[in-house]
Amino acid sequence: MTCPKCGAANADGVQFCTHCHATLLFKCPKCDHMQTHGGTCDACGLNMTDFWTKRLAIKRVEQENFERKQTEQELNNVQTAMTVPFSGPGGWAMFLLTAAIRRIGAWFESR
Ligand SMILES: [Zn+2]
Ligand SMILES: [Zn+2]
Repeated sequence: MTCPKCGAANADGVQFCTHCHATLLFKCPKCDHMQTHGGTCDACGLNMTDFWTKRLAIKRVEQENFERKQTEQELNNVQTAMTVPFSGPGGWAMFLLTAAIRRIGAWFESR
């Protein structure tokens, strides 16, 4: 079939133009019917444009929720990093303090 956008000849049944990647065949997401135009499905009457718009809107909300969760996780990590130095056994503040005390002790012993 000929591409309506660029006029390139494509094999029958090709979903996208091999030359400009325009959509030649639209597949209904509900009944899998293939047709040469978008909009309403000839087989089941589904409004494909509407379907994909809604699907995209859902995807966007999911993405926003995901990003919000990630930010919360990062905040939690920062909070943990701020409290661990003094509370956790591997805390860097405790390590530095211990090292400093040892140094001072060694200094006193050397006198
Ligand atoms: Zn084309
Ligand atoms: Zn359909």
